[in-house]
Amino acid sequence: HAKKHGGDRIEVFRPAMRSDQPDRLALEADLRRAIERDEIKVLYQPIVRLEDRTIAGFEALVRWDHPRLGRMSPRDFIPVAEDSGLIVDLGLSVLDKTTRQLVTWQRLVESDPPIFASVNVSSRQLLRHDLIHDLKGVLSRSAVAPGSLKLEITESLVMENPEYAAQMLIQVRDLGAGLSMDDFGTGYSSLAYLQRFPFDTIKIDQSFVRQNGSGARPVILRSIIAMAHDLGMDVVAEGAETDADAAELFALGCEYAQGYAFGEPMTAEEARRLIAGPVRLRA
Ligand code: C2E
Ligand code: MG
Ligand code: MG
Ligand code: MG
Repeated sequence: HAKKHGGDRIEVFRPAMRSDQPDRLALEADLRRAIERDEIKVLYQPIVRLEDRTIAGFEALVRWDHPRLGRMSPRDFIPVAEDSGLIVDLGLSVLDKTTRQLVTWQRLVESDPPIFASVNVSSRQLLRHDLIHDLKGVLSRSAVAPGSLKLEITESLVMENPEYAAQMLIQVRDLGAGLSMDDFGTGYSSLAYLQRFPFDTIKIDQSFVRQNGSGARPVILRSIIAMAHDLGMDVVAEGAETDADAAELFALGCEYAQGYAFGEPMTAEEARRLIAGPVRLRA
């Protein structure tokens, strides 16, 4: 343990996080350049209404094609972006690109409620005032109704600093944007506790959804869904990979699902074609 900043904050030394590692520094420099050159792409994965299998919205998921390392998973470069502060620019660019796509999607089909977009927000973004500022900017630059934009925040992020997170989330809610609790079930918290935060949706982590129908999974899913509904929240199930998954989720009362059964993360153009096209979603 190392004491830092003279205060009572203790920082735990985590070897994997060392920012002075050559690889890490090189990756950070590459990422900075990629952001400047606007080489970070955003893919969109459909979120489907289970009752009629229509598209309710899309989740924005970043991709980076590294010149030497190839396509990188956000799980590998988001931590680098967070540690270096690059997440602020990166996050703004994802918000900006996504809202612009949302405008074109909403023009393409008139539905009630309109198609929404859901954007992931990480801790460094949430714990800075820039997020509210950025969100206001993005909303005022586009004609999108605030309610069509949702932010996805993991429960573990909220648990890191519940008081501060609550303040920020209330500001987001007051702007009219939606709030989804992401990856529910992977952290240490309970829905009953988290209902004190202004979430309107929970996303059940894919680990509870994939290969369901076996063991205790249906029981766990059923109780998460029931509690979410009692607390007035909608439920999105992540990782619906098969038609059987989708059917079971619907039978359990889940309203929305996302997963390879309905579509992988796709380009904005593919998303547009999917919305405009007459073809119903498979699965
Ligand atoms: P997440 O928000 O939980 O996103 C869902 C992940 O599950 C995505 O991985 C998606 O491609 C994957 N997935 C979707 N359907 C299925 C399925 O049926 N089966 C399986 N096995 N996987 C499925 P991806 O795109 O690699 O993103 C990983 C994580 O990176 C995200 O998890 C999110 O936490 C983070 N992330 C992605 N984009 C952003 C971003 O713009 N900002 C921030 N802060 N984080 C992001
Ligand atoms: Mg997410
Ligand atoms: Mg998720
Ligand atoms: Mg997840």
